[in-house]
Amino acid sequence: MAQPLSADQFRAILKKSGVRVVEHGNWRTHNRNHKGAWGPVHGVTIHHTGPYSTEAGMVELCRTGYTSLPGPLCHGVIDRSGTVHLVGYGRGNHAGSGDEDVLKAVIAEKSLPPDNEANTDGNPHFYGFECINTGGGQMWPEAQLDAMHKVSAALCRAHDWAARSVIGHKEWQPGKPDPADIAMNDFRTAVAKILEGKPTSTVPPDVDEPRYAPFPGAAYLRTGRRSALITAMGKRLVDEGCGRYSKGPGPTWTDADRGSYAAWQRKLGYSGTDADGIPGPTSWARLQVPKP
Ligand SMILES: [Zn+2]
Repeated sequence: MAQPLSADQFRAILKKSGVRVVEHGNWRTHNRNHKGAWGPVHGVTIHHTGPYSTEAGMVELCRTGYTSLPGPLCHGVIDRSGTVHLVGYGRGNHAGSGDEDVLKAVIAEKSLPPDNEANTDGNPHFYGFECINTGGGQMWPEAQLDAMHKVSAALCRAHDWAARSVIGHKEWQPGKPDPADIAMNDFRTAVAKILEGKPTSTVPPDVDEPRYAPFPGAAYLRTGRRSALITAMGKRLVDEGCGRYSKGPGPTWTDADRGSYAAWQRKLGYSGTDADGIPGPTSWARLQVPKP
């Protein structure tokens, strides 16, 4: 049993794995958590997208979904250059119904039985990556496969899972073909090699980690103070689903900022006077307010 990573942890471990990461929209809070459970997580599911006209269009489709299947349709879209596009985080519509015996095998990290039942909702339990490929015999570029292996290994490492926690959609849901032309046992072998620490990365280390604003002190954040930092904080509170603004957020500290910050403190598990809306250093650090 494992608690899902936070969105920021998810992003950080992917970047650390050496892949290029691009963020789309409010991916951190774009999810289907209002429709059902997210977590406990047990593994990673690999998909192919199917036919597409442009890669950018396919990334957007995976983000928004369509009427009969609203997005996000995965957490990350891996394009043919190996760039990972973050489109959602939390419960998504990607794994669908699959085989409970497969889920048991993933949890136990045993070899997988055939997927011959669709009796279990996989969306709470799997991180999902849609990899851009028509599924009609199109080759898989080396850079794309490399990124697919790396993000899978990064999640296994973060959760202390073995490579057996990585499955193809075709191993989960009866009738699914994806990812086409990929032998998942070979895929898992490649993931296992990364987990063993064998060097495979040729991508230069990441240099564009965001810079977060240090805690300015509780006395700074008070009624009437005007600062771009307060706008930046308010935007982060909105991203975290804690916005209690009727208009804004804006640069001037108001009761709406305090109410929003109190919602953030409650989200972190604080209560009573610890959730009074007056920022403290710990909750501030966890909010990761970008430097304005
Ligand atoms: Zn799929």
